[in-house]
Amino acid sequence: FYILVILLAQILFSIFCWWQLNRPRPLYLELERAIRKKEFVPYAQPIVDAITKETIGIEILMRWKHPFQGIVRPDLFIPQAEDSGLIIPMTDLLLKETAKQLREYKHDLPTPFHVGVNISPQHCKSSILLDECKVFIDEVSNHNVILVLELTERGALEVSEFTRGLFYDLKMLGCKIAIDDFGTGHSSLVNLQEINLDYLKIDRVFVKNIGVDCTSEHLIESTVELAKRLSLRIIAEGVETEAQAEYLKKQGIENLQGFLFAKPIPLGEFLQNYNQNISVIDSD
Ligand code: C2E
Ligand code: MG
Ligand code: MG
Ligand code: MG
Repeated sequence: FYILVILLAQILFSIFCWWQLNRPRPLYLELERAIRKKEFVPYAQPIVDAITKETIGIEILMRWKHPFQGIVRPDLFIPQAEDSGLIIPMTDLLLKETAKQLREYKHDLPTPFHVGVNISPQHCKSSILLDECKVFIDEVSNHNVILVLELTERGALEVSEFTRGLFYDLKMLGCKIAIDDFGTGHSSLVNLQEINLDYLKIDRVFVKNIGVDCTSEHLIESTVELAKRLSLRIIAEGVETEAQAEYLKKQGIENLQGFLFAKPIPLGEFLQNYNQNISVIDSD
């Protein structure tokens, strides 16, 4: 009889545990928990020189290493993280982990090494960003890193007195500024010039349509024109085919990023592979 009671209690307890773990909870509570557990990790995707195809740097892309759901892609949680303001501590976590892994990497990286990080509009309203970037740059001083802040064009980035000052300070610190997803929002030229940009990242919806629809090609060509006038460099995103890479190179676009070269992988893995590839080239 006792054994039966114990068995029943155990079953009930298991059911309770299962329910605790799987009951639906508001996402922001889950995000808060995940921040405490440091579940947001940096993935890296290389950015290459359009002509030599050599890696010049990486973009850091956030992934959520969920204990039960595995790796969660950012589109599923970034919007809510932005609405709740949790994106700020999440990005801080990501910057710290990225800096740690880069500092611990004792081999050569391309110099200078471009590190792109996505920054939400909310984050640009606070001077925390400046402190975080300072710490990041200090941490990785063993490499010649250029921190490139990617601001999405779709976000509501207001250029106020405060942001103007913040961007000025960030630039004095040595950070570069990129407009991400260029062509999908409606940034005015005035706005662009006010924050003294360095890069435009052409969104992959345009790259995807190269050779398919000439409106996309016209947009790319006029972006190149605009970038030249403003002395901006261009990175094309979402390059998947040789034909796209060839077309973009011919337009005079400096840098390319996309599955043609590599998919995003954990930063640690990227660094390990990079070291191995370099060693192979050295020993040739
Ligand atoms: P994004 O910054 O424009 O990043 C590029 C996205 O395109 C990445 O998706 C990348 O995996 C994907 N991609 C790159 N090459 C190709 C390609 O050749 N083909 C296709 N189909 N896709 C390609 P991911 O990593 O899912 O990120 C999606 C978006 O989530 C990012 O777009 C960015 O807006 C946001 N995000 C990612 N990490 C962070 C972060 O740390 N902070 C913030 N605020 N947003 C982030
Ligand atoms: Mg980006
Ligand atoms: Mg983009
Ligand atoms: Mg995009």
